Amino acid sequence: MKIVSTNPGRNYEVIGEVEAASEADVEAAVALARKAQPAWAALSLQERCNKIRSFLKVCEANLEDIAQIMSKEMGKPISSSRDSITQTFEEFEDYMEQAEAALAPNVVFENDSEKHIQTFEPRGVIAAITPWNFPFNNISFQVGQPLIAGNTVVMKPSEEIALFTKLIAELVAQSDLPEGVLVPLVGDGSVGEMLVRQKVDMILFTGSTQTGQKITQIAAERSIPVLTEMGGSAPGIVFEDADIARTIDMLAMARFDNTGQYCDGLKRAIVHKSKYDEVLKTLKDYAQKTKVGDQLQESTKLGPLVAKRQLEKLESQVADALEKGAEVIVGAKQPDGLQGAYYGVTVLTNITPEMRVWHEEVFGPVLPIVTFETEEEAIALANDTEYGLGAYIFTEDIEKYRRVAKQIQAGNIAHNTAWYFSPKTPFGGYKKSGNGRSQGAAGFHEVCQIKVISEEK
Ligand code: NAD
Repeated sequence: MKIVSTNPGRNYEVIGEVEAASEADVEAAVALARKAQPAWAALSLQERCNKIRSFLKVCEANLEDIAQIMSKEMGKPISSSRDSITQTFEEFEDYMEQAEAALAPNVVFENDSEKHIQTFEPRGVIAAITPWNFPFNNISFQVGQPLIAGNTVVMKPSEEIALFTKLIAELVAQSDLPEGVLVPLVGDGSVGEMLVRQKVDMILFTGSTQTGQKITQIAAERSIPVLTEMGGSAPGIVFEDADIARTIDMLAMARFDNTGQYCDGLKRAIVHKSKYDEVLKTLKDYAQKTKVGDQLQESTKLGPLVAKRQLEKLESQVADALEKGAEVIVGAKQPDGLQGAYYGVTVLTNITPEMRVWHEEVFGPVLPIVTFETEEEAIALANDTEYGLGAYIFTEDIEKYRRVAKQIQAGNIAHNTAWYFSPKTPFGGYKKSGNGRSQGAAGFHEVCQIKVISEEK
């Protein structure tokens, strides 16, 4: 089966096609990874890191090609694509620095007659299923810690980035990574499903909740661990004492950057009544001066959505809100003069809980706003979601921040900022946003078997 790749910013013009992996290819990939794993794990941490660095060096030498293909296929502005690649190199380096401490054996119990030593062994072969919204970052996010810890990885990125995946496979082959240590596969969900049904030792999944739940069932049948990083609908609470100029910059970044296609993007604004008019006016000004445009132009800050299907889903969510009485402050339509999966920066008010924009994940530049009067009301609105990935709280009162943060059901809470991501910081969700944590020592421990070796004294 061929996967046809199209450019969502140029009216879906075809930019290439790639043969998807067959069942035999998937089996062969897992067999290669299985064969390579013992020798990979037997290398010292330093030796593994050096080989991983050789892959990063090859990527660095091909940075522009990677950035161009990424932007063409999924619509990320070209400058953001380049930045995301250098950021990924830094993330890899950070994981490599953390590894020794995170993976060192340690004594967890000791008495006169015995001591218990906790050790970390790689799990073996890991299947990594990844989405399209941060193509290159997902290599460090899903593959970095597993490889460093001594696992081998068969990775299946989204079908929306098939040409990108093919390029990454070519770059892996040019690096010093031994054959089978990292095997990227091109394919859609059916290839992903073939992969997770193979005899792998763990599944790492980043993508929608719906797919993550299917994969969790498959893992359960095989009694293997699965780490899911799934959808989100992060609340952004703006308290009465928030510094509005700073808050709006952060709020806009957390909602509209990457054209709203962030898993932990700020997807519901919950604004104190006293700040409502000011927030609306400032957001409207922001929206009117923020141009959506061709992702390959250097000046573009917001490109198209990833694909026509994503545009259609977003349009149906907004139409549902309007039918149920939402009011458009700005946007809610395609910008004039552009052809493709473009959607204007949109702010909606008069929101009710029945509206899809409130209770579904909205993956696009659309922000519904509701108001509150008391702290309790703000917390209840923030937690009124089946997701629990991120949450953003804007207040100058640190005591209030701490009190509220404790009561929010989400894995990562941010204070007066849009960006709280760090390779040292565990990342993951409550509720339907996922299970387990990536990054930091917690992320290393997820991709390892914990073995306790007790010694007689
Ligand atoms: P998706 O679930 O449609 O696809 C994700 C991956 O799963 C793709 O590689 C796809 O081919 C594969 N897949 C689909 N069906 C499968 C099956 N039955 N078996 C195995 N693999 C299968 O998600 P998407 O549209 O690519 O990504 C957007 C979603 O990802 C959003 O919900 C977003 O919030 C989420 N996301 C979460 C995080 C996080 O860290 N929590 C990060 C990025 C994106």
